[in-house]
Amino acid sequence: MGEITSKTIEFPVVLTVRDLALKMSASPIQVIKILMSNGVMANINQQIDFDTAAIVASELGFEAVQEAGPEDVVAEDTSEIPLWRRLIMDEDPKKLEKRPAVVTILGHVDHGKTTLLDAIRHTNVASGEAGGITQHIGAYQVEQKGRLVTFLDTPGHAAFTAMRARGAQGADIVILVVAADDGVMPQTKEAIAHAKAARVPIIVALNKVDKPDANIDYVKHQLADAGLVPDEWDGNTLVVPVSAKQRKGLEDLLEAILLVSDSIDIQANPDGKVTGTVIEAQIDKTKGVIATLLVQNGTLQAGDTVLAGLTYGKIRAMFDYTGKKVKSASPSSPVQVLGFGDVPPAGDIFQVVPSEKEARAIIQQRLTEKNQNSTVSAKATLEQLFEKFQAGEVRELPLILKADVQGSLEPIINSLNELSQGEIKINILHAETGNISESDVMLATASKAIVLGFNVNADGAARNLADQQGVSIRLYEIIYRMIEDIEKALKGMLEPEIIEIPVGQAQVRAIFKINKVGTIAGCRITQGEVRRNTRIRVMRNGTKVFDGEVSSLKHEKDDVKEVRQGFECGISLKGYNDLSEGDILESYIIEKTS
Ligand code: GDP
Repeated sequence: MGEITSKTIEFPVVLTVRDLALKMSASPIQVIKILMSNGVMANINQQIDFDTAAIVASELGFEAVQEAGPEDVVAEDTSEIPLWRRLIMDEDPKKLEKRPAVVTILGHVDHGKTTLLDAIRHTNVASGEAGGITQHIGAYQVEQKGRLVTFLDTPGHAAFTAMRARGAQGADIVILVVAADDGVMPQTKEAIAHAKAARVPIIVALNKVDKPDANIDYVKHQLADAGLVPDEWDGNTLVVPVSAKQRKGLEDLLEAILLVSDSIDIQANPDGKVTGTVIEAQIDKTKGVIATLLVQNGTLQAGDTVLAGLTYGKIRAMFDYTGKKVKSASPSSPVQVLGFGDVPPAGDIFQVVPSEKEARAIIQQRLTEKNQNSTVSAKATLEQLFEKFQAGEVRELPLILKADVQGSLEPIINSLNELSQGEIKINILHAETGNISESDVMLATASKAIVLGFNVNADGAARNLADQQGVSIRLYEIIYRMIEDIEKALKGMLEPEIIEIPVGQAQVRAIFKINKVGTIAGCRITQGEVRRNTRIRVMRNGTKVFDGEVSSLKHEKDDVKEVRQGFECGISLKGYNDLSEGDILESYIIEKTS
């Protein structure tokens, strides 16, 4: 790396063509032309590596040096990593400890979600406290074999997905309640889609098995068809028969929860950064704002200053789910706190900050950012998805599909799936009959998906929410138009086809092994030319023995960019030191057709 001079520019490991041009105050066109002349076909949003950027820079008279520091590592897309995992990413792995699983209950209306939550609360809440819970605070804990499980007691995927749309995620495990006398219904499928989109494991509570018309086997088939293959059929889904009404099978259900929680390493650092999710909040005439917080990392203490969204407060008092006053709350504990200045929105992430002054500063910063971003919508239009793809941010097109009748769903799904190619995948998060509902839009918001409708409408609430959240809803009356549209989007998204263009050949005449440098092959160019920034394939007796990049190309003692037919040169290859006399080096470039 050279001495820093006015002509030295720092580049990260990867940057887009646009950023490269900006850094050198060059026009993107100029940069693209230089890249082309060096055999790299790139568009303005494409990411190129440091070495390539350095070549362009040198042609424009700059010397490139690599930026240091973690910020040049391309950010990993963490959007689908559960929140609590993201929360503990910065924690010292040695300090992570197991914490109770947080469970939420989803399922079709009337299948028994509320009854099940009540049944579990009454039978399994730690002894002596059962009668004590007269108030619902939005979550409670039960004990099974000396281990705690936290239940969020607002059933339904509206709450679950609303949280996810805000970037939070309360639940580690979803209990899907399916009535054994009714089977898999539209909201069951929706719930499956929501849980799968959030990558949260599902346990099925097959409820109402006490009913004479319960048909367990039939429902298991339906579940398997919906993608939840019961474990007794070699699938991955635990299906536990229960009767919420008769309070039967609850123990098995809790066992299943412990089993699943052991398989997914649910952890937190009790001494780490204190953060979690607002479960619910309201104003009480006498007590002020009462908020239920689910602690997901660290230990919340009475007296702490908490910040959620645009509101904060010093915790005046804190109560557990039984109403008992507590001084601290460890990971996975739900607590009711008094002290917020305003009602924090349910589903927001909260954090503990060192002082009220700091809380105000963060809120001020959030307000400024909000104003700045108010003109930029987070719309998931096909065009924007395409751009994101080009920037390497997305590799799949998430879709939610609604159609008028079952008969049209299948051909559409098949045609859409056929469009998936190579690395680019169509991901149909949810496909169902019926109009586009608010719940579909919520799922789309949380998953950055596009909603497609075939011969259906979007109801008013869905349209409003879509407008607010910037979700794209596309309605069609002709199947092939829908497929054509998606295909176009995907074609734009597809990486151009890659073809190989031969540049020249060299024959190895002599081998020089040089300490610290490696093997240098003394070559003669027998065809075309060999360029420093092309790829080289090493052929020995007609067989390829290596394929890689040139590390240095010298003519006489000088580093050169290319050597033409008939000339001698010295070639060394990156990561390959076994060249031998007689090898043929084929120089070629990769070109992308778009
Ligand atoms: P939710 O809409 O999913 O919350 O369903 P509810 O918990 O309100 O239950 C709907 C109806 O099913 C109520 O009348 C319950 O009494 C009844 N129910 C719930 N669980 C059972 C069960 O295990 N067996 C029977 N027979 N009825 C149940």
